[in-house]
Amino acid sequence: MATNLRVFLLILFVAIFAKADDLPNGWEGAIKPEHVRPHVEFLASRDLAGRSGANSAKAADYLAKQFRDCKLQPLFADGSFDQPIPTSAEVDSSDESPRIVGRNVGAWLEGSDPKLRNELIVIGVHFDHLGTRGGKVFRGADDNASGTAMMLEVARQLAVAKQRPKRSIVFVGFDLEEQLLWGSRWFVAHPPFELDRVKLFITADMIGRSLGDLPLPTIFVMGSEHAPRMKLLLDDVGSPRGLEVARLGIDLIGVRSDYGPFWNEKIPFLFFSTGEHPDYHTPRDVPEKLDFDKIARVSSLVLKLVEATANADGAPEWTDEVQPNIDEVKAIHRITDLLLQAGEKKPLTDLQRLIVTQAQNKCQQILDRGTFTADDRKWLIRISQLLLLSVF
Ligand SMILES: [Zn+2]
Repeated sequence: MATNLRVFLLILFVAIFAKADDLPNGWEGAIKPEHVRPHVEFLASRDLAGRSGANSAKAADYLAKQFRDCKLQPLFADGSFDQPIPTSAEVDSSDESPRIVGRNVGAWLEGSDPKLRNELIVIGVHFDHLGTRGGKVFRGADDNASGTAMMLEVARQLAVAKQRPKRSIVFVGFDLEEQLLWGSRWFVAHPPFELDRVKLFITADMIGRSLGDLPLPTIFVMGSEHAPRMKLLLDDVGSPRGLEVARLGIDLIGVRSDYGPFWNEKIPFLFFSTGEHPDYHTPRDVPEKLDFDKIARVSSLVLKLVEATANADGAPEWTDEVQPNIDEVKAIHRITDLLLQAGEKKPLTDLQRLIVTQAQNKCQQILDRGTFTADDRKWLIRISQLLLLSVF
């Protein structure tokens, strides 16, 4: 028994190792695990008690301090890093000072090009979480200390770079995402600049685990179908060694994070996530379970993509017309492959295996045929939703 296990582990190790070496355009990322880990460990510490209410303010203080240390400029009125957020409940009109329930934290880096610096790329991530419930601390390490660490390290790298990006870069930590995206909705309704200056919004929510807790090297990137230039830039940039980008349409999941209010305004956006897992929104979402290599790789990818977008001749533009793109079929086919491989280590249920196999066969048919129709895409959306639901 023990020998079999050892042989099995050896085969698995060889398979994983060979795979990592085979990856196309795998480059060395600038952001390392030791850069992102301290942010996650602080934000998801027991002391911060799940970053809600007064404890969310401690996280906000931490972000402001990081921005100040990087010598970034305050984003809001009167040289402040803070944007107070009033209650979303109906306030009595006689009440002249509505209750403040949270705050967004923001900073910016002015672009180097005299013309292009008027255009903005916004990286915004939520830093709040669910607090303490029934005596249990919901530490929110993946959701979303992971994305917050990414934003802070991208900000630091850009702030110290010898060559500033041509366009200006804005960094925002959103509060109250866990309360119907109230922080980002308030920000978009009360922006510190004209919204039409925003050429791209990037957010990341949960980038330190893996879909269904299966060992996948995957980062899902959604939204590029509404901004053709971002598809090209994603292709150009490639991915750091050990990370695979799966580009999917945002309609597969709908509004799940802070890109919602930007989507409403038809601002090009990208959403980065490694997907849901069984510890999602439980007290088990703790730093010990995170893959810090993965967070560092995703952070390095966002950094390169932001630099490429900020320095490109033209800015991303929104399109409503989403063409069926066969790359999406390739991405889902690859995910089914990975799920079936990972299933050898952590068995899938019969139903999961059936759905995954069906999805794979259909993707293979489409790829063999080489044409991807609107009807195919409708089917693909249904099966992917089923796939994602059954794996979560
Ligand atoms: Zn959440």
